[in-house]
Amino acid sequence: VTKNVPFFNYKVFSEQHGPEINKIMQRTLNSGAFIMQNDLAEFEQKIAKFIGVKHALGVANATDGLMLALRAVGVNPGDEVIFPSHTFVATAGAAYFVGATPIPVECREDHTIDPNDIERAITSKTKAIMPVQLNGRMSDMDAIQAIADKHGLVIVEDAAQALGSKYKGQGAGTCGAAAAFSFYPAKVLGCLGDGGLVTTNDDRIADKLFMLRDHGRNCEGEMVGWGLNSRLDNMQAAILNYLLDFYPEAIARRRKIAAHYQSRLSGVTALQLPPAPDAEGDYFDVYQNYEIEANDRDALQSFLKEKGVGTLKQWNGEAVHQIQSLGIDASLPNTDKMTSRYLMLPMNMSVNDEEIDYVCDQIDAFYQSHANTSEKQARENDKVSL
Ligand SMILES: *Cc1c(COP(=O)(O)O)cnc(C)c1O
Repeated sequence: VTKNVPFFNYKVFSEQHGPEINKIMQRTLNSGAFIMQNDLAEFEQKIAKFIGVKHALGVANATDGLMLALRAVGVNPGDEVIFPSHTFVATAGAAYFVGATPIPVECREDHTIDPNDIERAITSKTKAIMPVQLNGRMSDMDAIQAIADKHGLVIVEDAAQALGSKYKGQGAGTCGAAAAFSFYPAKVLGCLGDGGLVTTNDDRIADKLFMLRDHGRNCEGEMVGWGLNSRLDNMQAAILNYLLDFYPEAIARRRKIAAHYQSRLSGVTALQLPPAPDAEGDYFDVYQNYEIEANDRDALQSFLKEKGVGTLKQWNGEAVHQIQSLGIDASLPNTDKMTSRYLMLPMNMSVNDEEIDYVCDQIDAFYQSHANTSEKQARENDKVSL
């Protein structure tokens, strides 16, 4: 029998949280508290504590947050900013819109930025490194920090996918000079529209971020410079305040799902799985996504679709340097190879264990029937990497 296992199921979210969210919205409406009000201040305090960071400020979305963070740490027009090409275009866009030049580099096997490729890309114009804490996993922050220290560079984390992730006990959003998170609906902590957060442990950067997001006003309402309008709505903050209480449960469930995939798929030689959830090691991953690499990726995706299983190529299958219209000229062969093989399997709060088994059964069935072709491709892949 064919099951329907969608990639994401918004209906389940609305069934679970709809009644409470309706009450919150009605309460906010009745109180008339929409912009820079108590729910926002409460949420900022609560999430700062959760992240383990001194300052957390709500902003309109993570793209704005990254742009404000780059400005606040002193990235200026003409500077170069290094980022991993396997990311959402927003990472590079944020650098572009402060007038800097985004410089893409390679990813490593776990799909986060490859520290070895960062040094190659450093020039006299390089000002910042933007590691992307991808798929709910942190980058190798020790290696990146060492490079930043050696060359006098500043680190701004794109933590849009990494709320609650840790590296050597340190939370995403606490490692660089500043960081940005996203509450876009498809993120693990999503609101009912656009929303984001900037974080920093530095009081002066926090003051700058505060005024940049609110027309140049400081917390006393005095004008202290130029600013933009990029605030998180009080209504969204009130909803996020409620949803944040469920977040630890969500992380635990996602790590369970990842362990389930790992136990069922680790023997499939045609696949490369993301790192397994590891309680003891350097990394604590929250599995925003479960991104595998697969031989015969497109055929596998079509097969799974026929069997009712929803999968997704992140960012439409393109790394940033591959987007023709942006005119970025870079040769990143590892990333090119990875984007021809990557695929995300269902990883969400509605998929149950039976459905995960069904997804894995279908993957097994695909590679059994395609054994010959996939072995051939594996040999070809080996040739490419030699
Ligand atoms: C979602 C995402 C963003 C952008 O977040 P918005 O809140 O939609 O602006 C940036 N970077 C990464 C890695 C993302 O996944």
